Amino acid sequence: MSRFFSLLKGITGRITTRMVIIVSLSMMITAGLGYLKLYQATATNSSIRIDRAARAAAALFSEKLDAEFTAISDDEGRPLAIRLKGGDTATALTFRDEHDALLAEIGKINQGAANLFRLNADTGGFDRFATTFRKPDGSMPPPMSISPGHPAYANLIENRPHLGEVPVMGRMRLAYLTPIQSAGGAIAGALAVDVGWVDDLTVARNELRTQIIITTGLILLLVATFGVINMGRELKPLRRLAHYADDLAAETVSGEVPYKDRDDEVGVLAQGLERVVALQNRLAHLAYTDTLTGLGNRSRYLADLEAALNQSLLGERGWVLAHFDIDKFKQVNDAYGQAAGDRLLALVAARLSEAAGPGARVSRLAADQFALLISVENAAASGHRVEKALSRALEAPFVLAATEVHLTSSIGLIRLGRDAAGADEAHRNAGLALRRARAQGGDHIVVFSPEMNDALQDQLRMERMLREAIEKQEIELYFQPQIEPATNQLAGVEALARWTHPVEGPISPGVFIPVAETTGQIVDLGTLVLDMACAQAAKWRQAGFDFKHISVNVSPVQLWQTNFVRTLKSALKRHKVPGRDICIEITESVFVDNSERRIASALASIRALGVALALDDFGTGYSSLGYLNRLPFDQLKVDRSFVTNIDTDVRKQKVMRGIVELGHGLGFSIVVEGTETRQEVDMVETMGCDAVQGFYHARPAPALLIPDAVARIERAALDKKAISA
Ligand code: C2E
Ligand code: MG
Ligand code: MG
Repeated sequence: MSRFFSLLKGITGRITTRMVIIVSLSMMITAGLGYLKLYQATATNSSIRIDRAARAAAALFSEKLDAEFTAISDDEGRPLAIRLKGGDTATALTFRDEHDALLAEIGKINQGAANLFRLNADTGGFDRFATTFRKPDGSMPPPMSISPGHPAYANLIENRPHLGEVPVMGRMRLAYLTPIQSAGGAIAGALAVDVGWVDDLTVARNELRTQIIITTGLILLLVATFGVINMGRELKPLRRLAHYADDLAAETVSGEVPYKDRDDEVGVLAQGLERVVALQNRLAHLAYTDTLTGLGNRSRYLADLEAALNQSLLGERGWVLAHFDIDKFKQVNDAYGQAAGDRLLALVAARLSEAAGPGARVSRLAADQFALLISVENAAASGHRVEKALSRALEAPFVLAATEVHLTSSIGLIRLGRDAAGADEAHRNAGLALRRARAQGGDHIVVFSPEMNDALQDQLRMERMLREAIEKQEIELYFQPQIEPATNQLAGVEALARWTHPVEGPISPGVFIPVAETTGQIVDLGTLVLDMACAQAAKWRQAGFDFKHISVNVSPVQLWQTNFVRTLKSALKRHKVPGRDICIEITESVFVDNSERRIASALASIRALGVALALDDFGTGYSSLGYLNRLPFDQLKVDRSFVTNIDTDVRKQKVMRGIVELGHGLGFSIVVEGTETRQEVDMVETMGCDAVQGFYHARPAPALLIPDAVARIERAALDKKAISA
């Protein structure tokens, strides 16, 4: 029932209502017109007939009872009364057979009934004393009177004729009642006639009216019920399609579009809807797909992550999130070109999808960075399975441009729900684990632990502090002399950054330089250091202290800034320092990420300013003898690890001898770092190295102390010579 009423609210209800209104209006108009016609016909007919009947009756009455009565009419001949010519009314209006015969004749002419009444002085009513009516068995009907309340009574008692409907034997009949008066003109009785068949017509007309009302009502009910049921059924597909479209908009749609196969309007609508579904799918696909690899893109990843996290938190299903990064991908790109790099990414994507297994969600976040969401059944055991599968994904070499490329990856892993309660946190923590893996030199998989977050907080704090220190120029320079071991003469000084935080105290460059490098602050810091070094060079020149050159450390990030050479040039110019007063130290790590051509052109621009170049920390990192041969270095700085205990370590002696020979062979001067003892200095001296820089001669110190320190070292040599002489 409630469904029926709910149907009434929609299109069904509206159309049915309109239909009902139209049908009822047209029915009512048709029936009403017919009824009106009939009404007019009966009304006209009745009035003509009754008029004639009244005239005929009055005429016949006064003619047949001519001796007693005379008829009085108005100007148009309509009877006003029948008046007694003389004698008394009681006699004249007492029943005689003559009366019956007269009434029968009147009735026959009028095809209706006729009655005679006499005023009853006692009751005030008009009693019938003659009539044409008979019971079906032929006997007389019961007596009747026209008394107060009867429609004709008021007129009659006032001595006026009455025309209108009056009750006759249980029916209303159109009648004309003519007063019968005494000779003096007082009311004494009445002659009543009616016209039978006209009455029947009136009855029929009234019945018709009732029937019209009832049948109209019935038909309307039928139309309404039929309309609601039928249209409800016909419109049902529309309602279902509307629901479907609604779900489509809310992206909760499931299953096929219904009614596609129908060949009516509903079918057309369903087919249109299906095209919308296809379009929506295509758009969703485009919006969520990484075109290069066919994997999900970042948006897909974020949506998947949210969903997986919810499942993990609800305990429905456990998920592991892995951030996956190809180690040194940039090198491959540089070596083989972008197109090959793209192909390689697609191959890696396929391997990852396979390794992650069915049900996993794999997306690409950035150039060579992927995210994998892997569902796990057993929380404890799964971690290892996932790790193993992922770390093996790149094991087999990739074939690219007819060569085999070996790749390794860094992977950061977290358990959703356990290691993160929100999507942002999950993303950040997986990123932290990945960063850890990268920091371990790549080819590592690291599972997130909360300490990483603490480390991150520390690092963020450090970053903030360092930014302030650079702004407030809290960074200062210490200098460490480089000494020619054979003569104890100064060969140059290295500028080393020092940072003393007002609260934390001295912070080692080993701590803050990597922070500055990863945050990019190294650019500002390096600019500051270069400026201070040039200022010091100018000061020492002015003071007449011959420092030979100041070596300034420049990190790779700084070197690859397009304006680095401009910065260097303007620092030299600002302090009016010639290029030869400065030596730029670059660590071997520049070779890791960059092509030889790029390095060569950067170094050539520096060289063009007259600035010397040193390769720092030689032997600790990525060494290619090919690079050494082609790049324009002036100096090799051998790392401290090669010199510690060299006086007792025969293998180290051999290596050092080799390095010195090789370096000299390529035209470099050799500076050995970290000489701490007399024995170490003596040993490298015999090997022919050009300079030593170490605690044995001097620790890094403020500029102010350097000239004295150098003088002391040189004097010590003179003393040594004097002693030996
Ligand atoms: P580096 O350029 O190789 O500098 C030499 C480091 O060895 C200095 O450490 C120095 O104090 C230390 N050292 C010198 N002689 C000895 C020795 O006999 N024994 C020992 N144990 N150490 C010795 P420091 O000053 O802590 O600097 C560390 C590194 O930080 C530097 O290594 C350099 O790579 C970087 N660095 C320092 N200042 C700057 C700078 O202004 N810019 C950049 N980009 N890097 C800098
Ligand atoms: Mg250095
Ligand atoms: Mg070094």
